[in-house]
Amino acid sequence: MTQQPAITLEDVNRAMTARRRDLSFPEPIEQHFAAEMDARRGRAVRRILPRTLVIYNAFIIGDHLLTPDAVMVSWIVHFLVVTPWIIAVILLMPKITTRLWRDLLVASLPLSIVAGVLAVFAMSRSPFAEHYQYFVIVALLYGNAVLRPSLPLTLAISAVTVVAHAVVLALHPAVPVVVAVSASACLMVASYVSLATNAAMERDLRRLYLMRLSESLIASDLERAAADLHRIALVDPLTGLANRRGIDARAAALSGGVDGGPFAVLMIDVDRFKSFNDHYGHPEGDRCLAAVALAIRESVCGGVDVAGRYGGEEFLVLLPGATLAEAQPAAERIRRAIEDLALPHAAAEWGVVSVSIGLAAADGLTPETFPPVVAAADAALYVAKQAGRNRVHAAGQVPPIDTAGRRSRPVSDAA
Ligand code: GH3
Ligand code: MG
Ligand code: MG
Repeated sequence: MTQQPAITLEDVNRAMTARRRDLSFPEPIEQHFAAEMDARRGRAVRRILPRTLVIYNAFIIGDHLLTPDAVMVSWIVHFLVVTPWIIAVILLMPKITTRLWRDLLVASLPLSIVAGVLAVFAMSRSPFAEHYQYFVIVALLYGNAVLRPSLPLTLAISAVTVVAHAVVLALHPAVPVVVAVSASACLMVASYVSLATNAAMERDLRRLYLMRLSESLIASDLERAAADLHRIALVDPLTGLANRRGIDARAAALSGGVDGGPFAVLMIDVDRFKSFNDHYGHPEGDRCLAAVALAIRESVCGGVDVAGRYGGEEFLVLLPGATLAEAQPAAERIRRAIEDLALPHAAAEWGVVSVSIGLAAADGLTPETFPPVVAAADAALYVAKQAGRNRVHAAGQVPPIDTAGRRSRPVSDAA
């Protein structure tokens, strides 16, 4: 199958306003429409053809009644020409991949029926033969309104049928001129009506297709916009880390409302950052925060751990499944990673940008246990600052919380 170019909403809007005489859409919509309709028409024609066989051959009764003198020709036309051809078309249709050839095959059906009717009529000298030629109208309506090949082919089938019918009628010795003229006029009107019906159906089908296309494109645009909005609402634009809302969402998703395993929280704060801004300016401060965020992100396990910007120059890391003992080296790794960035900080004790980290841990991550552990990590951060900065301080294990939200034991300080 060939790859089709993608359709945009602008393409659809352009197609909605375009007025083409042949009803076709501007590319690439025409290509998509044709592919979809080809498949649908193919299925519809294959469904119709077996019925065609039955109905067409039932008309042999009419042949017997109206043109009994040409019944031999009727049988040959019905059972040696048209019926085998309809069966051949049924078998050939699924194998033909070119649209033009498929359309030509479909168009050959009403034309072969018309040719058969005209042949029997031409051979018959029955007094009822002039009524027999009206079967051509039925064949034409069947071709134009039931099989519905493409509009240009419908036009061609109609033109060929009208001309052939008029010629055969004119040459037939038993048909009075008035009958020939009135029959030709009837056929022309039938051909016009079926053509107009075919065009109206095609127009409606195309309008419906565009509306469906536009609806599905708008729906997927909206879906994408909603996903973008959701992402923007949860991500800090400066650092690309989760923002406060993103942290809470991830924590809630991890806990899933039921007791999880152990977890640890790290509160990370850039040391002397106000002085950094004062000395290097805010834009440089922003670059520093982005570099610190990247170092934090690279120091944690991306798939499981949650790294976020808690606010200003404070970051939070949530380590699900980590005990206090396991979180301590992780915190130290982060502290060292930022120190190793060696970002110059003229006003800091160590001459480079550093962070202080407060650490706390608890058992059972739930939406209720998370905030107190964050508060404990924040308190530990304060202690780390007081103790001289550029260090990790562990608050210790936060005791479990009872269902009323009260801690069962006081917080122990492990440092
Ligand atoms: P400490 O070592 O005690 O943490 O001192 P500090 O100067 O880092 O702490 P303080 O809270 O006094 O200052 C934090 C500074 O962080 C103040 C504010 O200008 C700066 N800050 C907060 N958010 C941003 C930001 O998005 N960009 C920049 N450039 N600076 C920020
Ligand atoms: Mg701060
Ligand atoms: Mg600070």
